[in-house]
Amino acid sequence: MTETRLRFPPSPTGYLHIGGARTALYNWLYAKKTGGKLILRIEDTDAERSTDESITGIIEGLEWLGIDYDEGPYFQTDFTSDHKAGAQKLLDEKKAYKCFCTKEELDAKRETALANKQQLGYDGTCRNLTDEQVAEKEAAGLPYVVRFKTPKKDEILQYDDKILGPIRVHYKEIDDFVIVRSNGMPLYLLCNVVDDIRDRITHIIRGQDHMTNTTRQILLYEALGAPLPVFAHMPLTLDAKKAKISKRSHGEIVAVQFYRDHGFIPWAFNNFLVLLGWSPGNDQEIFSKEELIEAFSLEKINKSSSVFNFKKDDPKFFTDPKAISINEHYLRTMKIEELAEMVKAEFIQEGLWKDEYENERKAWFLDTLNLIRDRFHTLKDFATMGRAYFADDFEVDEKPLKKNVLKFEELKTWLPMLADRYEALEDFNIETAEETARVLADELEIKPGVLINSMRTIVTGQLAGPSMFDILVTIGRDKVVERLRKINEFYPA
Ligand code: GLU
Repeated sequence: MTETRLRFPPSPTGYLHIGGARTALYNWLYAKKTGGKLILRIEDTDAERSTDESITGIIEGLEWLGIDYDEGPYFQTDFTSDHKAGAQKLLDEKKAYKCFCTKEELDAKRETALANKQQLGYDGTCRNLTDEQVAEKEAAGLPYVVRFKTPKKDEILQYDDKILGPIRVHYKEIDDFVIVRSNGMPLYLLCNVVDDIRDRITHIIRGQDHMTNTTRQILLYEALGAPLPVFAHMPLTLDAKKAKISKRSHGEIVAVQFYRDHGFIPWAFNNFLVLLGWSPGNDQEIFSKEELIEAFSLEKINKSSSVFNFKKDDPKFFTDPKAISINEHYLRTMKIEELAEMVKAEFIQEGLWKDEYENERKAWFLDTLNLIRDRFHTLKDFATMGRAYFADDFEVDEKPLKKNVLKFEELKTWLPMLADRYEALEDFNIETAEETARVLADELEIKPGVLINSMRTIVTGQLAGPSMFDILVTIGRDKVVERLRKINEFYPA
């Protein structure tokens, strides 16, 4: 059997967005599954819209996701001579022709066709020019484009789409499309095929929005005498209002970088992406890399579009709740050492990292992450919601401050009393910390909750979290005592 060869050929005209990343992922999975190769080809022939920034963004985005490729990045502009040779071959074999129609002529014909409700598309005026006529026009310096000579057949062109099944298009519906612009530059439709033939691509997995290209490109494969690859057209990804997801209308929330910058775990994000248009046929949702490669198949890709259901305005659920819940799953269950690596990267960025977390306080660091991760949504939460465990400059949330602290003036004396008792304890541990708080509450004739909730607020800045006495021991007696004694600072002077 021949090796499967797949490609991801983004046009570098913007960041890597959800749709592009999903396309890359499906191609990658299929390459891995079949023991094949994945090629990255940057389709940068649109000089006006391609940018270096976009190329870097795409490459970094793939790297973050862990979607590696076996060849490339190739740059389409490095292969212009191949594209031109392809066009020349078609001209030489009379499978393409030079078209001298001017824009004005074409516009006028289009208007007439529209008015008469006729089929749009090129009418073939230059298709039958003789060699002499062509030579004459060229000698007169008239500009021309090159058009593909679509076979005139009263037949159906059919191919088997791996996802959608048999696709049938009548030859009459395909006009003589342009393959080379008047400035001599070959167009995307042709470049893409010439590159795929040269790169020996066996499978093309791309969005359904490319289906009209596919029928034309199949004609190009045939005309160039190359075997057809397998085509698989994926469903589009829509937003909650069923509009196509695009960078233009949705902004950075559809960019892969947004998820990297918001503390998503790369594999968790792949796990989310794969479910946007594919399902294993049962209700499994969480897949390790190996499991996913095993379970993935083109046949199980959905035929109809999928919805990326983000809620832009809810700060907690600032993106598709599914993306968050899958991220939470990984964050809360992954090996703690792996999580620690990711938190380290966050902490370095936030200026919270200390080398002792990898040396003398490694066990403390891992235990602390383990203690606090159960309520966290993204990696960012370790430096924000979890900040009090690692630094003294944490913020105290308004809500618990009002509810648990400011309501009781007496805490200004009670919490320092508790601090004194904690300081005096011979051994400060979960049991003694709890007992001391309960005994003091009894003496003061208040509910232990008053002390516990206010302590949580002052010591962690948060409304909720792990068991309070676990927290106290984790944060450590010295810091706890110090923070309890600062209670006064929270009341208006
Ligand atoms: N450069 C095209 C795009 O980004 C490639 C499409 C394809 O052939 O897969 O849409």
